[in-house]
Amino acid sequence: MPGRIAVVTGGNKGIGLEVCRQLAGNGVTVVLTARDETKGAAAVEKLRGMGLSSVIFHQMEITDDTSISRLANFLKTRFGKLDILVNNAGVVGLEFLQDRIDGTSTTSEKDTYERIDLLMKWCFRETRDAGKECLRTNYHGTKQVIGALLPLLLASDDGRIVNVSSELGQLRLFGDEALRRELDDVETLTEERVDAVVAAFASDLDAGVAAVAVRGWPDGAMSAYAVSKAALNAYSRVLARRHPTVRVNCVHPGFVRTDMTVNFGLLPPEEGAARVVAVALLPAGGPTGAYFEERREAPF
Ligand code: NDP
Repeated sequence: MPGRIAVVTGGNKGIGLEVCRQLAGNGVTVVLTARDETKGAAAVEKLRGMGLSSVIFHQMEITDDTSISRLANFLKTRFGKLDILVNNAGVVGLEFLQDRIDGTSTTSEKDTYERIDLLMKWCFRETRDAGKECLRTNYHGTKQVIGALLPLLLASDDGRIVNVSSELGQLRLFGDEALRRELDDVETLTEERVDAVVAAFASDLDAGVAAVAVRGWPDGAMSAYAVSKAALNAYSRVLARRHPTVRVNCVHPGFVRTDMTVNFGLLPPEEGAARVVAVALLPAGGPTGAYFEERREAPF
């Protein structure tokens, strides 16, 4: 009989794949999920080739209710519970102008950030469609997954949700002070209010990317990504309050070299994933409704 069961979303590559490897290495039975069957099955084969036989594949597209229900039914029948849900799947919300990429890598922090500035200027563009897709995936999709799997997490005697967030979702980046205070007031915050904030942002995005910049939303070229992660953080806090028996926490994995960052970044996926896994495997009775950066609790 397997011990702890974990589900990892977007487990076919990047940080997610490494989270699967490290959880399995810690004796957890891991259901590696991916939206693409071929890529997901290949990732499981790779982990099994490393001797990690406790990794199982199941398809899941996190914006598709039917696909999510299929996973929930599989877990219910096979295990009757879920101990750890790592919501890792995400998109960056930018249109990628691939032809202008300079793919050479560097290990210097200064060079990396200078390169990223250039990349953001020339190689990525925030568009309405990419921004909407980002909200739909990172916020609404993750919420759909949580909603479907929560009964199974409640059936565990130590259920945990780890939401892979980002420092770009930190509230200090919001120009609108009233909104910042509201999203930080966990006693009065509600799911409906977080949904309304995301809807307000989406409506500003409809008015045009330029309009977003003057409305107090997080500045810069990644406002949809920032709002999606800030909303996910806020929702995590609502959820933690609502379900005190489940530990619900958020983690910034660091600036990690993956496809999402066009392999720029300061950390290898192993280290980014280790920060996520450290929160997933915190001793029983640890914090809930918290945000972690560099392996420490930090302000939202
Ligand atoms: P990658 O782009 O390497 O991996 C993203 C994963 O998410 C892929 O498996 C992708 O699947 C999956 N995914 C995307 N959309 C969906 C969907 N609708 N349904 C199911 N799976 C989906 O990115 P990272 O590994 O870098 O990112 C992982 C997480 O870490 C993200 O949430 C990201 O926001 C967060 N993060 C990353 C940072 C970094 O520096 N890399 C920094 C801060 C946060 P597919 O292969 O099919 O596209």
